[in-house]
Amino acid sequence: MEIDSLLKQTSFCNNDLVSLLTCTNQAEEQLFAYSKYIRDTTIGNSVHMRGLVEISNICIKDCLYCGIRRSNNHAQRYSLTDEEILNAASFAHRYQYGSIVLQGGERKDKAFTERIEQLLLKIKKLSNNTLGITLSLGEQNKETLQRWKDAGAHRYLLRIETSNEKLYQKIHPKDELHNFHTRLECIHLLQECGYQTGTGVMIGLPDQTIEDLANDLLFLKNIDVDMVGMGPYLEHHETPLWEKRNQLLTPKQRLQLGLHMVSCLRILMPDINIAATTALQAIDPYGREKALEIGANVIMPNITPLTNRANYQLYENKPGMDEGAEESTQRLIESVRKSGCQVQLASWGDSQHFFKRSN
Ligand code: SAH
Ligand code: SF4
Repeated sequence: MEIDSLLKQTSFCNNDLVSLLTCTNQAEEQLFAYSKYIRDTTIGNSVHMRGLVEISNICIKDCLYCGIRRSNNHAQRYSLTDEEILNAASFAHRYQYGSIVLQGGERKDKAFTERIEQLLLKIKKLSNNTLGITLSLGEQNKETLQRWKDAGAHRYLLRIETSNEKLYQKIHPKDELHNFHTRLECIHLLQECGYQTGTGVMIGLPDQTIEDLANDLLFLKNIDVDMVGMGPYLEHHETPLWEKRNQLLTPKQRLQLGLHMVSCLRILMPDINIAATTALQAIDPYGREKALEIGANVIMPNITPLTNRANYQLYENKPGMDEGAEESTQRLIESVRKSGCQVQLASWGDSQHFFKRSN
């Protein structure tokens, strides 16, 4: 089918999405222009900033793709102190980021969950309740999620990684800790607890097909999430998936597919928040800006203290390792402008979809 008639459709099947994910040249240009148009006319061209704080690389899990997996003995483990986390939060507050993301390895022990609760209360206090807080700390039970919500977190990111259960099993150890259904259940718990709920997938995993990615898009639409962060899979030599590096798409192809995924998702879900992820930037220095040009509306500058940034390596060639938070903020605001968007400072930048969903 011609791209014009495809884009005029109001609902899309797997085949339609496969066509959109693989289109090239003029058709690609039309696709990208359309997703940008949809964003601009639905939620506008404002981009929201989330200061990303990578609080710790200590993780109980062993995902086969991740550089900070439990079994990687070469990863130098760290956990930021309360003071370091609160300083990062104050920085974000001072520079009017509007909100922060606390991300880290998964831990479920009481000392950890209580510490996070206390930190949330302190961050709220130091910012006079103005700083929005997103968490990305893996799977947790309902009680913990509720306590963190009550302490001040209002958004949560938990990627499904892939909506294909068989592929999920291939990229995780086969044990109870790495269960597709538990992860999915946890995404539903987030929705039940009243979080603005974010999920997402990796793009270009070994054995992943374009049909899988088209299904991922339909999955995201179907579970009705408020926010999505998705980006290219990037291999790390100290992980089991490194073995499959010869089967992968080239980084450039993964970047292009990542942009197509963002574009298609914006068309499917016009009013959600979509992040221009760091993994895009790892392939192309302007990867994030390219995503903003075609429909993403969230950017997450890294404000982790520089001393620990190098230890939080989910994948190799992580960008921004030597750039202080102040420096990268200025540079980012400038390049967002160049992508035809405006940085909206000092606001939470909530997902408009969430409020419609809750009504
Ligand atoms: N531990 C939490 C949050 C930190 S990991 C969790 O897993 O939910 C955050 C995300 O990083 C993961 O969801 C995964 O999608 C992404 N990630 C991990 N390893 C990656 C890799 N090698 N390439 C690209 N993304 C990766
Ligand atoms: Fe841990 Fe998250 Fe990495 Fe899995 S992806 S090993 S849960 S940090």
